[in-house]
Amino acid sequence: MNTPDTIELSQEASLETSSKINQKFVFSFHEGDGKNKQLLGGKGANLCEMTQIGLNVPPGFVISTEACLTYLADPGRQLPEGVLEKVKSQMEKVESATGKSFGDPQNPLLVSVRSGSALSMPGMMDTILNLGLNSETLQGLIQQTKNERFGYDAYRRFIQLFGKVALGVPDEKFDTIFEEVKHKAGVKVDIGLSAENLQEISQRFLEVVLEHTGRPFPENVFEQLEIAIKAVFNSWMGKRAVDYRREFNITPQMANGTAVNVVAMVFGNMGNDSATGVGFTRDPGTGENVMFGEYLVNAQGEDVVAGIRTPKTVSLLAEEMPDLYRQLEDLRDKLESHYKEVQDFEYTIEKGILYCLQTRNGKMNATAMVRTSVEMAKERLLTKEQALLRIKPEMLEQLLHPRLDSKHQSEPLAQGLPASPGAASGQCVFDADRAELLGRAGQKVILVREETKPEDIHGFFASQGVLTSRGGKTSHAAVVARGMGKPCVAGAEGIHVDVKLRQAKIGEKILHEGDNITIDGGTGCVYLGVIPTVEPTFSDELKTLLMWADENARLKVMANADTPNDAKNALEYGAVGIGLCRTERMFNAPERLPIVLEMILADTPEEREVPLNKLLPIQRQDFKEIFTTMAPRPVTVRLLDPPIHEFLPTEDELREELQHLRHLKETAVGVANLFNSLRLLHAENEGTQTQLPFNDKGVELIEQAIAKKELMRKKVHELHEVNPMLGHRGVRLGLTYPEIYKMQIQAILEAAAECQQANIDVRPEIMVPQVCASEELVRVKSFVDELRKKIEEEKGIKLVFKFGTMIEVVRACMQADELAKQAEFFSFGTNDLTQATFSFSREDAENKFLPFYAENNILENNPFEVLDAKGVGKLMQIAVEWGRKTNPELKVGICGEHGGQSESIKFCHELGLTYVSCSGPRVPVARLAAAHAKLGESKNVSL
Ligand code: PEP
Ligand code: MG
Repeated sequence: MNTPDTIELSQEASLETSSKINQKFVFSFHEGDGKNKQLLGGKGANLCEMTQIGLNVPPGFVISTEACLTYLADPGRQLPEGVLEKVKSQMEKVESATGKSFGDPQNPLLVSVRSGSALSMPGMMDTILNLGLNSETLQGLIQQTKNERFGYDAYRRFIQLFGKVALGVPDEKFDTIFEEVKHKAGVKVDIGLSAENLQEISQRFLEVVLEHTGRPFPENVFEQLEIAIKAVFNSWMGKRAVDYRREFNITPQMANGTAVNVVAMVFGNMGNDSATGVGFTRDPGTGENVMFGEYLVNAQGEDVVAGIRTPKTVSLLAEEMPDLYRQLEDLRDKLESHYKEVQDFEYTIEKGILYCLQTRNGKMNATAMVRTSVEMAKERLLTKEQALLRIKPEMLEQLLHPRLDSKHQSEPLAQGLPASPGAASGQCVFDADRAELLGRAGQKVILVREETKPEDIHGFFASQGVLTSRGGKTSHAAVVARGMGKPCVAGAEGIHVDVKLRQAKIGEKILHEGDNITIDGGTGCVYLGVIPTVEPTFSDELKTLLMWADENARLKVMANADTPNDAKNALEYGAVGIGLCRTERMFNAPERLPIVLEMILADTPEEREVPLNKLLPIQRQDFKEIFTTMAPRPVTVRLLDPPIHEFLPTEDELREELQHLRHLKETAVGVANLFNSLRLLHAENEGTQTQLPFNDKGVELIEQAIAKKELMRKKVHELHEVNPMLGHRGVRLGLTYPEIYKMQIQAILEAAAECQQANIDVRPEIMVPQVCASEELVRVKSFVDELRKKIEEEKGIKLVFKFGTMIEVVRACMQADELAKQAEFFSFGTNDLTQATFSFSREDAENKFLPFYAENNILENNPFEVLDAKGVGKLMQIAVEWGRKTNPELKVGICGEHGGQSESIKFCHELGLTYVSCSGPRVPVARLAAAHAKLGESKNVSL
């Protein structure tokens, strides 16, 4: 059955399996291969594995993802041949294991029908509980449990879920009835509803189904089961699931189709000796080695997750049900020692018996991943290598998320649960669509909801953080935000959201859409306005982990840093040197820019000498500070790269400024004339002599400014290039204006000399940009040699430094053997090399056509983000090979943006580069990625 938001099967689901018949398709928990997540889905495989390692799992079976794909490929949407018979035979086994019977009015077996694909996609696909209830079995359930309220509660839940998921009845129709009855009965929470209330709700739900679908609610339990299985299969192609896969780049190779798990129901709502809960074997927010979770007595599983009642923290279970708490601790130990990974598990206690319903690897934020990795390795649950491989390098970026500045004095507006750490500010919005709209428009927003549901997922993507007024730390909002590394405050009960009015009430205070708030997911506090944040510092665990990473990596990690302050930060991030110092960035400081302008406006080398002499000591001082900070590590200084007109205003800007100045001059002349006429008049009236006419200095000043701007405009015009990126820049500039490069080389060498004289062990490296021919290097090298000799003679020392080149021009790759005769090192400038290889402008492509290319799978990745191994990578390979043929000792690195991206780092490792260099905050990511690359070479350490 197609629910309204079901998307037609696209190429996304592979149809390979559609022609295969006589496949097994259906597996009992005792026979399914617990490692085969592709076939059985993560949940199904785990249920099999848990059963087979002796945990108390309710009996059941899995219908495979292959069955799902075969079903989706069938235009008639029929279950594959033989599946229904196999399901029936498995149901018989479940019946005998439970002693209950499916559809039996006296002793009914109820089942849950759960989705589950190879990758966990929490809440993105459908699940139906309490299946097998009809008007007859309901009575059996009531008699058997002697609990009428429980029976009707299960029934109304089933009708709603089945109605929504399998029959496409809008949820609001059920919610409205539910709220009406609650209101009529004068109760606030559903637990206050009586059996009669629930009976009325069930009856009215059945009527809603009839009204909406034109058919009565199915009474035949096998018909229910078949429809439910199909509905779960369909949910694989539902909008939510498709959007989620697209957002997280989940390809069919990673997860293809959903399995269906049919599991005997156990009930957490059978009275006060029953409960339901979700837990993590360690705290997923901090990584602390304590059981973490929440439970509700006398409730069903979705009550905890949906946040309908605010659950209790698991430590209270130790007081409330001590024996069960011990069982839970035992379960936790068994899960971790078997899976060797933090587990996120669901359990139900039915009349004092603990059942484990589900387990999966816990989604944790980066703080928790790092801490658990280090601690689990120290506990010898994992090897160090496994501990490193467990964390995706990019995840470490989360650790660089801001926290609230502790000096802030603001009083919280509301308090909720600290559900996902980090702090964020933004305008509040009260529904996911608005969040998406404003987020796309570049606004920072905080999504504020009563509770979130899976269909809000696009709102999460668009928001800086999430705030809910209901639900706990394991509510949907909390789990999803944590997975995304976004801050979340959950269960802030003092907030009353009114979606229609686009406002929320907190006590007397009304928050309107667009008001700024700040949330602190580490403390659960909510504040009005924007509160400043601070960067976090490295935890000891992270330091340990990165130390292990360095021990395991072959690639060295350097930083791109342009100022002494950047250099200090780079060291803190663990960089072993500076791989790129862009000297032009030093020119941009406001007090330096006028000198740089003077240098550009000069017409002759002699005129240029004056500003260059002013720049020399400034650059020398910068270099001295950076070399000293990094000593004894290498610092690669790149000579001036951009075209010099980049330091000038544009012609348009100058035209406007000139227009303004001319206006000003006209006004000033007018004022001066008026003033002189008045004086003349005054003298005539008084019969006195006039003094000399008023000489307006202002007009003179304006004229000087106009002359200067005119000169600038002339220069800009002269320097104009149609294609500046391919123009007069880099070494071409250095050779045509040799005095500029000579000044920079002199500054570098003199700084190094002064450091050496002060016994500071510095390792400068001079790097030439945009090189395409070895003759260019020969010429720059001659400047270097000339200056080196002069300084060595003057200072009486021997300078220690290296001379090398960027490889960022295609011809440089082709001439690598020749360049290596001149250069002691190569550094790939993959930003420019990518631009040159693709002929894509690095300035424009990402905003113009690359999103289209990504969406339509024309290119696998954005090549400015992930190094293009097939094109740019091939050129790099040639350059490395040929360069090292000339000089086997050649040091080769990368300093383009790709140097901080894990997939690209893996490629650099495989290419045999010596180092990668990236921006400071990405250094930790690169260190871990470098270790991954090395560890990935040996097969026996994979998890
Ligand atoms: C590059 O081109 O990759 C590079 C590092 O230089 P820039 O980005 O400064 O052009
Ligand atoms: Mg470049």
